[in-house]
Amino acid sequence: MTKLRLAIVGAGPAGIYAADILLKAEKQFDVSIDLFEQLPAPYGLVRYGVAPDHPRIKGIINALRDVLDSGKIRLFGNVSFGRDITLDDLKKHYNAVIFSTGSIRDASLDIPGIDLPGSYGAADFVSWYDGHPDFPREWPLDASSVAVIGNGNVALDVARMLAKHADDLLPTEIPENVYAGLKASPVTDVHVFGRRGPAQVKFSPLELRELGELKDVDMVLYDEDFDYDEASKAAIASNKQVFVIDKVLTQWRARETGTASRRLHLHFHAKPLEITGTFDESTNSARVAGIRYERTEPDGEGGTRGTGEIREIPIQAVYRAVGYFGSPLDGIPFDEKRGVIPNREGQVIDDNHEQVHGVYATGWIKRGPVGLIGHTKSDAMETIKHVVNDQANWWAPAHPDEAAVVELLESRGVEFTNLDGWHNLDQHELGLGEAVGRTRIKVVERDEMVRVSNA
Ligand SMILES: Cc1cc2nc3c(=O)[nH]c(=O)nc-3n(C[C@H](O)[C@H](O)[C@H](O)COP(=O)(O)OP(=O)(O)OC[C@H]3O[C@@H](n4cnc5c(N)ncnc54)[C@H](O)[C@@H]3O)c2cc1C
Repeated sequence: MTKLRLAIVGAGPAGIYAADILLKAEKQFDVSIDLFEQLPAPYGLVRYGVAPDHPRIKGIINALRDVLDSGKIRLFGNVSFGRDITLDDLKKHYNAVIFSTGSIRDASLDIPGIDLPGSYGAADFVSWYDGHPDFPREWPLDASSVAVIGNGNVALDVARMLAKHADDLLPTEIPENVYAGLKASPVTDVHVFGRRGPAQVKFSPLELRELGELKDVDMVLYDEDFDYDEASKAAIASNKQVFVIDKVLTQWRARETGTASRRLHLHFHAKPLEITGTFDESTNSARVAGIRYERTEPDGEGGTRGTGEIREIPIQAVYRAVGYFGSPLDGIPFDEKRGVIPNREGQVIDDNHEQVHGVYATGWIKRGPVGLIGHTKSDAMETIKHVVNDQANWWAPAHPDEAAVVELLESRGVEFTNLDGWHNLDQHELGLGEAVGRTRIKVVERDEMVRVSNA
């Protein structure tokens, strides 16, 4: 029987679901799957993006682990495509490759002052609090007033993590240095800015509601933002999600405030124009001092328009949470505008819109950084359908045997981890947590992750 030797690059949910779906698909051939992951541990943004105080979502890792533990997938962790293994290598060892490398960078926001010291990307902050090994261990939490720009779930995660008291995060898996950093934070006010109105935001109601449950944090809303136009009223009446969001916000507006030590302000109809700076003599450099924004108003068609009224509030730090962006991969077509691998239903295409045989994409690198973990499943189904049907165009590798790729990595001195290694690390982290009455404490340093995995 023919055998499909498949490489999958990126062990986030998209890559793991693709493997699962292929293994379960009806097909006229055997399958052997190798999963390459640049980090020593699998699960992508479920481990390094989903907020630590979302244990139910983090629990999706259990389902993904079951797939990896099926015994039919080999994991090669700590192996980076483009550095440790190339497209030419894959062509020599596999019939096809699926890229599921996701997006980890912050999309840019082109306003003056956005590069001042004290201005950060949400993705970098998320990587810090989720203990990503490739990000600095220290995070400068020295601001009392902070702005978060964006009206999606990542903006809410960032605002919540900034406003929440560190002790309320102790039951979670946050690394020790993150707890210490957040515990010392002098923050009193977190301001979330969105240019649209409350009926146009992209928050999911569950995420929004959670803000109102933070201990010792007042939710601050502004009456002027709730002067709904007809289009907003229609959205509230016709869309269940918008209806619930409005209900939650209405409840908060009726609450007594003024006793909490921290405040989380939601500014709607506020379009950021500029981050203003000041000269800090202690560091001899400029740094963030304020955010200038323009009031917007409903345009009567479900959108907004500027009013020309400019305001400014003082802040000492700003986080832009305006979306994620994919990174290009060596030898693989890339759409610089959208930050994705150009593709037709997962079949990668080149500049001339011709299919690149043997190369597929799935997950966020396929369709852009939108959607929940569950969406990567339907994505993977579509891609796998083509992998299966494209048999006539698969590569014909010179070294299809499973030992050859191991020899290749060893000959290059790549210190890769495998599935047993992940189990070692998992047990180690659980043990660290148990010793101090917590569920898990993450190991952060890459060397330490590899050492524990390969012990
Ligand atoms: C801050 C944040 C919070 C979120 N919270 C939720 C939530 O609460 N609920 C929810 O359902 N969804 C949430 N999501 C969305 C969810 O994380 C994504 O839908 C999902 O992770 C996308 O899966 P993916 O596999 O495409 O990408 P990823 O999860 O990013 O996985 C990609 C993998 O590829 C690896 N990789 C990248 N480049 C290479 C390379 N060159 N070589 C080898 N490996 C490589 C990466 O290390 C990574 O492990 C959140 C997203 C973010 C950013």
